[in-house]
Amino acid sequence: MHNTSRRHFLRSLVAGSATLALPTLMRCAAGGNRPNILIIFCDDLGYGDLGAFGHPTIRTPHLDQMAANGQKWTSFYAAASVCTPSRAGLLTGRLPVRSGMCSDRRRVLFPDSAKGLPQSEITIARAVKNVGYKTACIGKWNLGHLPPYLPARHGFDCYFGIPYSNDMDKVRALSIEQQMDAKIEDYNVPLMRDEEIVERPAEQNTLTRRYNEEVIRFIRENRPPWFIYLAHTMVHIPLFASDEFRGTSSRGLYGDVVQEIDAGIGDILRTLKETGQQRNTLIVFTSDNGPWLPFREHGGSAGLLRDGKGTTWEGGMREPAIFYWPGRIQPGVVTDIGSTLDLFATIAHLAGAEMPGDREMDSYDLAPALFEGKPSPRREMFYYRGQQLFAVRKDAYKAHFVTMAEYAANNNRQEHDPPLLFNVEHDPGEKFECAARYPDVVADIQHLVAEHAAKMVKGEDQLAARITDTN
Ligand code: MG
Repeated sequence: MHNTSRRHFLRSLVAGSATLALPTLMRCAAGGNRPNILIIFCDDLGYGDLGAFGHPTIRTPHLDQMAANGQKWTSFYAAASVCTPSRAGLLTGRLPVRSGMCSDRRRVLFPDSAKGLPQSEITIARAVKNVGYKTACIGKWNLGHLPPYLPARHGFDCYFGIPYSNDMDKVRALSIEQQMDAKIEDYNVPLMRDEEIVERPAEQNTLTRRYNEEVIRFIRENRPPWFIYLAHTMVHIPLFASDEFRGTSSRGLYGDVVQEIDAGIGDILRTLKETGQQRNTLIVFTSDNGPWLPFREHGGSAGLLRDGKGTTWEGGMREPAIFYWPGRIQPGVVTDIGSTLDLFATIAHLAGAEMPGDREMDSYDLAPALFEGKPSPRREMFYYRGQQLFAVRKDAYKAHFVTMAEYAANNNRQEHDPPLLFNVEHDPGEKFECAARYPDVVADIQHLVAEHAAKMVKGEDQLAARITDTN
């Protein structure tokens, strides 16, 4: 167990010159009780889709228990509003615009994409593997399906999952209605183990169950410390659930799927208990972006937040988030700002891993909030769409410089000068625009944007290139 002074010491090292301090940092951590880390990352789950976050008919008893006995974060943001950049942000602790893992030409990686997460990027997996962690990636990847970009090339010892979204590789054109009544055979999505395709099309009804079984097997077969990144394919459409769960929720198929994910978490919690690891494992639960609203009841709910996936309104990027570590995390509700971007620094601290000192990071160590009841060190959030900065939150206020309401449409882009301003603590639904009343706040955020822009070095677009372009 870390004592307070060492925690402070480690944190100051992580925040400061990590390169210089690395040997000391590693010695400290190696002598301590380094936790296992399990990140459970849903796909397209909305802010309002868990019992603990207010859904009236979806039952999530295991996640609700984790929220009650851990920390429930209510202002926690994904790094982007769509899959690929969001995942790149989580794993690298960097805004995806820095790694080139976002694009104004293609929003995510597709089966014909030629590139992926560059080798020059350092993932959480690589950082903790370097200090002795066993690492597993289970689930959806979407950071490049060609060999140079797969999980094994980014620090994961093993991989089991689908390399891109479950609605890709369509065998025929499908309308929204047809995708809400989809068959597995409508999608030629591969299931991979390490770098081999082991099933095609992936039998999607059993994916959630098989991912959970894979996690449980990994926990039983590997000595701690370990790091598991469980990136569920669901609840991204097309929705599939195993027979055991189909028809069990009064929320319909979407509820069945969420409830199967929750039940799997129950199985994982039992395994941790049986193997004596529940008090030495940090579990983080969140989602990659908000609900996919055009799919109506097959999409989730952002609850009281505005809009959903693909947008820089709160419903696109603010996610349910739970941190759970019995005996270590102070139970409570945290309304301060946090982000998946912060998982890198937080996990690096706990694992005694190196914070990269040769690049701009966007990752805050959340340890003071998690373990000491102190405020979150994060006070701002940058909302990018593709490579363009659309909005910025600082403390309670969020300024929109550009808005675009729809996921796919490109004809409703609106620029705002002065920006639209909302107090997202008073008004989380972004209903009451207030820029004229708070010119000082607008000026302060504009100053923050200018500072951010002056230092920003955008990475080369990794999403635009297609396999056919390079042949
Ligand atoms: Mg997604």
